[in-house]
Amino acid sequence: MDPNVQIIIKKLIELQLLDRELVESERKHRENPRKVSELEEKIRSQREKIESEKELLKNLELEQHQKENDLKYREDKTKRVEAKIRAVRTGKEYQALLREIALTKKENNEIEEQLIRRMEELEQIRMGLVGQEEALKKGEVEVLAEIQKLQQDVEGIEVQIDRLQAQRAVITVGLQKTMLERYRRIRDRVSWNVVIEVKGGICQGCFVNVPPQLFNEVIRSDSLYQCPNCQRIIFYDGGNPGGRTPEAG
Ligand SMILES: [Zn+2]
Repeated sequence: MDPNVQIIIKKLIELQLLDRELVESERKHRENPRKVSELEEKIRSQREKIESEKELLKNLELEQHQKENDLKYREDKTKRVEAKIRAVRTGKEYQALLREIALTKKENNEIEEQLIRRMEELEQIRMGLVGQEEALKKGEVEVLAEIQKLQQDVEGIEVQIDRLQAQRAVITVGLQKTMLERYRRIRDRVSWNVVIEVKGGICQGCFVNVPPQLFNEVIRSDSLYQCPNCQRIIFYDGGNPGGRTPEAG
C-alpha cells in the first residue's frame, strides 16, 4: 500500500466534494439574476396590461360621451319640431310632423337604453381595473421583497464562491498538474464522483464489475487505477461497508 496514493485519493475526494459545492453555488449565482429579471418582467407585463385596458376604457368613454351629445342634439331637435307642431295643428303637414316626432322619440328611447347599458358596462370595466391595480400594488410589494432577497443571496453566494475557491487552491497545492488535468478530463466526462469506491468488485460509479485482476491491484493500492468502463479513479476502502474516505498513511 502506497501512502502517497492514499493521500492523493483523499485530496481528490475533498476536491470533488468542494467542486460539487462550487458548481451548485455558481449555478445559483447565474440563476438568481435570471429569476430577478423574470419577476421584473412579470410585474412589467401586468402593468402594461392594465395600461392598455385603461387606454381602451378612455376610448370607450369618449365614444360614450359623443353618443350622449348626439342624443342630446336629437332630443333638442325633437323639442323644436314639437314647438313647431303647436303652431300648425292642422292638415297633412301636421300629420307628417306627428309621425316624425313619434318615430324620433322611439329612436331616442332606443339610443338612451343602449347608452345606459353601455354605461353599466363601462362601470364594470372601471371596477375591474381598480381591482387589478390593487392586486398589482400588492403583488409589487411581494415581488420587490423577493427581488431584494434574491439580490442579497447573490452577495452571500459570491462570498461562498470566494471561500470555496480559496479552499480549492489549498487542496490542489499537493497535487501534480498532470493529476489535476486527469481529474478535470474525467470530471468533464462523468460530471460527478470522479473518484469512487469499488465495493465487492463493482465500481460504484457505473455499477459494472471491474476485472478481478484489476480489483486485486486496487485493493493493494500501490498505484492509481481507473475503472475500465467509466474511467473514474477507483479505490478500495478496506472492506468498510460505509465507504469512508480513506485515511492518509
Ligand atoms: Zn465505473
